[in-house]
This record gives sequence, structure tokens and C-alpha cells, in this order.
Amino acid sequence: MTARPNAFPAATILGYPRIGPRRELKRALESYWNGRSTRDDLSAAGRRLREATWRRLTELGLTAPPSNTFSLYDHVLDTAFMLDAVPARYRTADDVYFAMARGTADVAPLPMTKWFDTNYHYIVPEVGPETVFRLADDKPLREVAEARELGISTRPVLLGPITFLLLSQASAGSPDGFTPLHRLNDVLDVYAELLTALAAEGVDWVQLDEPALVADRSDEELAAVRVAYERLGGLSLADRPRLFVSSYFGELGAALPVLAGCPVEAIGLDLDRGHDVLARHDLGSLAGKTVVAGVVPGRNVWRTHLNGALEALRFLRGKVGDVTVSTSCSLLHVPYDLDAETDLDPALRERLAFADQKVGEVVELARLLAAAPDAVVTAPPVRRRPPAPEAAPPAERSPHAVRAAAQAAHLRLPPLPVTTIGSFPQTGDIRAARAALAAGEITADRYEELVKAEIERAVRLQERLGLDVLVHGEPERNDMVQYFAEHLDGFAITRHGWVQSYGSRCTRPPILHGDVARPAPITVGWARYAQSLTDRPVKGMLTGPVTIVAWSFVREDRPLAAVFDQVADAIRAEVADLQTAGVSIIQVDEPALRELLPLRRADQAAYLSWAVGAYRRATSVAADRTQIHTHLCYSDAAEVLTAIDALDADVTTIESARSNARVLDDPAMAGFGRGLGPGVYDIHSPRVPSVAEITELVETILKVLPAEQVWINPDCGLKTRTYEQVEAALANVVTATAGIRGRE
Ligand code: GLN
Ligand code: ZN
Repeated sequence: MTARPNAFPAATILGYPRIGPRRELKRALESYWNGRSTRDDLSAAGRRLREATWRRLTELGLTAPPSNTFSLYDHVLDTAFMLDAVPARYRTADDVYFAMARGTADVAPLPMTKWFDTNYHYIVPEVGPETVFRLADDKPLREVAEARELGISTRPVLLGPITFLLLSQASAGSPDGFTPLHRLNDVLDVYAELLTALAAEGVDWVQLDEPALVADRSDEELAAVRVAYERLGGLSLADRPRLFVSSYFGELGAALPVLAGCPVEAIGLDLDRGHDVLARHDLGSLAGKTVVAGVVPGRNVWRTHLNGALEALRFLRGKVGDVTVSTSCSLLHVPYDLDAETDLDPALRERLAFADQKVGEVVELARLLAAAPDAVVTAPPVRRRPPAPEAAPPAERSPHAVRAAAQAAHLRLPPLPVTTIGSFPQTGDIRAARAALAAGEITADRYEELVKAEIERAVRLQERLGLDVLVHGEPERNDMVQYFAEHLDGFAITRHGWVQSYGSRCTRPPILHGDVARPAPITVGWARYAQSLTDRPVKGMLTGPVTIVAWSFVREDRPLAAVFDQVADAIRAEVADLQTAGVSIIQVDEPALRELLPLRRADQAAYLSWAVGAYRRATSVAADRTQIHTHLCYSDAAEVLTAIDALDADVTTIESARSNARVLDDPAMAGFGRGLGPGVYDIHSPRVPSVAEITELVETILKVLPAEQVWINPDCGLKTRTYEQVEAALANVVTATAGIRGRE
């Protein structure tokens, strides 16, 4: 094969992890934030990581690897910063970039939310009519130059203008009807300037990420796509690099013909999540462009079925001519390297591929594709999960009103009961104890003693402050999903499999690879101990099946519904055992319920029905007088209110303090008849809310919801706070509640 001039590489990836194989970036960030190192030290750490990445990708066989996939915090924030979409309130900060990400003593950070249906969080930019866009940062150019010094040419990756604007929020005070997309032409001016600068640097190709195009888009939005890419593609090839518009996390749908009609040279398709695309009749419209075929899944850790992928690639080549092999999305969502995992069962290892192995697959597929005879594959290959079995409908609990009466008689709680979401501060001591246990430096008995002491500390504090429903504080849990995965059959835990969640935060998703079962009770001993310390009710605390599945890498050789049922049955056994142990309130957390919501509306009802089914399967074993709580966070509760109702929990706690309980303004709230605890204390910030502030928020809540339904609680778990902050804040919560009770 002779390379065509300016050809797109035969194998590529859309992006790569950036936190560092040993979380080097996390450490560099924390040291800078704590004042232990300088901004220059931080930049140097970033430079080392980028260099290591480009060298590694080259070594693995990629030519022209992507650049500008690195970020000190978040790539959406980078884009806002680059375009100078910096709200005035941050401009005087010492470090404007991190002020937007994390706030300062005086200014709250920009909000953060989930990146599509992943567990990565991005910073939500603010765009208003007043925003003056300009090319304020040359990071994409700097990275190109940096790689070139190493002798590596790269393809800079930019967040596309449409996705950038669709993910932005209108700034406060924008006129009615304004949306950030109205600023498209101004943003395009800056993109055009940047493209021209990149062309002047000798860049051949630029990748513009437009994942927003795989969700339902209005005609107006599709028209904006056309405007954007006719404008950018309309620049002469002397003034811009070749344009590769990548889509991922699903199918392009109505956006495909729009992009196909624009003068861009390459289009990326996600053939993992958007597999049906191969059956489209209009694929031929892509002929003449390079199709970057995302056949190696970037969202899971399983090895790719190379034969199936190859067949898809050959089919596609027959339809469109020029095909490049790629990952389905950035590899940001998987760990770096399977070779770092020396403890995994060899039979499981065989089935796995992390980022570096996926790069290997892409390279191998490109080799096979080049070698494959040009015979045309005529029928689109199908790769599907096996069909779902008919799940047995969960046994029903009595109607909520019947249960509520039984619970009121049994629990005898005061009006506006005060509780927390579950975790208390994870102290350095308890973390050290867990590490010592893992290293064999302390015995299991000693660890148990330490955990019990920590439970007692939390219980005594809650009694002293006067909370009504206590928790044991979860000191034994490293993480709400990993803890359960470690105690269930069918899961494996990695040693270094960190995946960035936001900024410096990472999670190590467990790998759900086999049949899930609960060999023994998991939380019952701790719950029983906590309850033995006090006469007040102590809530049992479990993670729900949807969240366990959402925050794990899940096997694909079984129907998802069947996997859900297995996890639900394991949690159900735990609910039953807690109940038998005398625990009368059991919270089953589902913070990820909203996150898995499919991006296309047409798919949402089916998802909600099986997610809700799994939750009810897990909880319907509860007797009438056992009160089931659930907790959701980082979720726009109003959007899934019907689903929350369908979960059939007796009490739901949600995040709301940060938005001043705005969720209650949703008209859907009017019909909500169950217990609800809208958070009155924002636990994400070290700030201690005042009694007056909390009182005002509770008053707002009481305007919308009858007092009988209202619970008083923080937004989320307290594990990232200090005892000092928690004690002061909860004392104010109790005082505010007492004041309001006195008036009723
Ligand atoms: N019970 C968990 C805790 O308090 C819930 C955490 C969450 O919602 N993410 O930590
Ligand atoms: Zn939460």
C-alpha cells in the first residue's frame, strides 16, 4: 500500500487517558492546590505525561497520534478558556482556570455535570450575549509544537463548536429565549482563526469532536451543524487542515446526512454503540470522505472480536471506499494498561483489553483490513447482545399509603425528620487502617475494632447533635460500588485500573465478568453493631443494582437485563437479612439512575422500565413497616421524577441545596406523594451553611411540599468533609429544623 498524500492514518484512536498510569496528574494537581508546588511544576508534570503518551502511542504503532487530548482538569473547560468564555467574576482570580473549575474563597465554581451517559464530569461553560469570544489560549498549537520537538506529528483534537455550545449554559441575565447556540457565528470566527493557525503550523488533520450529534437534535440545531461545517470546511485547504468530525456514544441519526453534505474530509462513526448505522441505506452519501470506523469499543474493557470488526470494516469499505480503523470514542473511559494488573485471574485477563491493548487492536485491524481481499461483504454484519429473557415481574409491596401508616406507627418519628445520606468523614486513620489490613500489617480483628470505633464516633455525634434517623457512617467502605463488588461473586477488582471521573478524581470501576451472587451477608454485622449503640433508628445502607452496574465494566456475553436481575437478587438478599436483623429503615442508593438514561428519547422508556424493575426486585422483599429510602445525586431529579415515583421507595433524598431547591419548581413535583428529602446543605463545599440559610431553604421546600412528606438532610454523603465541618453544619441543620417545628 502506498500512502496517499495527506491520507488519514489507517489506524487511530479518538483520545487517550490523561491522569497518568499511576495517577501522576492527580498528585501534581493536589500538590499545586495545596501550595506545595508551583504552576510551573504542574505544567512540567503535564508535559511529561504528554510526552509519555505520544511516545507510547507511537511505540504501539500509531502514526500521527492525537494531541490536545491532555487537560489539566477538563477538556470542556479548556475549550471555554481557549475561547475566552470566562465569566467576569473569575477574571480577577489568581488562577482563572482553576477558579472556574473549583471556585475561590469568594466565588463558587462553575457547575459540573456528567459527560453524556458516562461517569466523567465536565465543567459547564457559561455563555451569554455579553461573552466576547477570542482565541485566548493556544494550547492546541503548543501541543503540536511540543510533540514535533519529539519528532512526532499529531492530530489536534478540539471539542466541536456545536457540542461546545450545546453543553454550555446561558449566563444569568440572558434574555428569554437566548441559547448559547445563538452565538455560533462568533464562536466560528475563533475556530476559523485557530484552524488557520494550525494549518500555518503544518498540521494536516484536525479532529472536531461532536458527540452532541448522537442525541435527538432539533431542525434548528441540525441547521446550525450545517452552518458550522460549511463555514469551517469552506475555508480553502491553504487556510485550514483537513477536517475530521467525530461522533461517538451512539448513532448520528439525522445528523449523518447533514454532515455528509458538508465539505469536511472525514467523519467518525461509533460502530459499538451505533451499530445499526451499517444497515443505513444512505451510507453511500459518505463516499468520497474518509470514514473513521469506531469498531474497537472505548467504553468497555473487553477484547474486541476481531473477525466481527473486520467484517464490519470490509462491509463499510465496500460502501464508502476509504475506511480508517478507530476506537468508538476516546479511551479516556478505560484504564491504561492491562499489563499493570498482575493479580487478575489468567482466564479473565484473556478476555480483557485496556487502553493500550485497544490501541494494539486498532493497529492489528488496520493491518488485517489492508491485507484482506477486496471482496465486498454484502450483508451488514450484526453484533448484538443476546436477547433478554422474560424477567419475572417483581413481587409488589402494599400500596404506599398502607406502608406509610405501618411505618409511622412503628418508627414514631417527629415531623421533618433529620437524617444524613450515609457516609461520615473518611478519616486518614481509617484509610490507613484499610491499607494496613491489605498489606497484612494488622489483623482482621484489629481492623474490625478500628471500624467499630469509627462507627461509634459517628453514632455518638449524631445522638449528641439530635438527628432523628442515624447512620453508621460507612467507614468500612472504600467506595460505594467497589465495596459491594469486593463482597459479591462475579466481580474482579483491579489494582491500577483508575479512570478519571473529574479533575483529579478517579474511580476504579470493578469488572463484572461472571455470574453475580452473594456468598454471605455484607453489611449486616456493621448495621447490627451500629443499632446496638443507640435507641434511635439506624438506617441500613446499600448500593442499588442500577448504580452497581453503571459504575462497573459489565460483561457483554449476557443480556443486560439478566445481569441486572442477578445484581438485584444479591441486594435483595441483603435487604432481607437486614430486615431480619431488626433494621427498620433501609436505604438503597441509586445515584446513577439518571446517568444511564439513553441519549435518545426513543430508548428511554425501555431503560427506565428495566432499571426500575431491578430496583423494585431488590427492594420489594421489604415488609410494610420497613421503610425503604433511596438517594439520587448529580441528577436532575425533575427529569426522572416519574421514574423516582416508579421506584416505589418510601423516601427519596435528592441533591438540591446548590440549586436552591429549584427542582421543586418542576410542575411534575405537584403529584409527588412520597417522602422527599431535598438536600438543604451543599456538601461539595467546605462552607458551613448558616441557620438562617437553611431555614430559608426549608421554608421554600415547605411552600411546595406538605410538611408530612418532608425530610431534612444534606445533599449527599459526608465522606469528603472533615468532622469539624460536618459537626458545625449538622448542628445548624438541627437548629433550623427545631425552629421551624416550633412554629408549625
Ligand atoms: N450512601 C452514600 C454516601 O453517603 C451515597 C453516596 C452517593 O450518593 N454518591 O456516601
Ligand atoms: Zn449523593
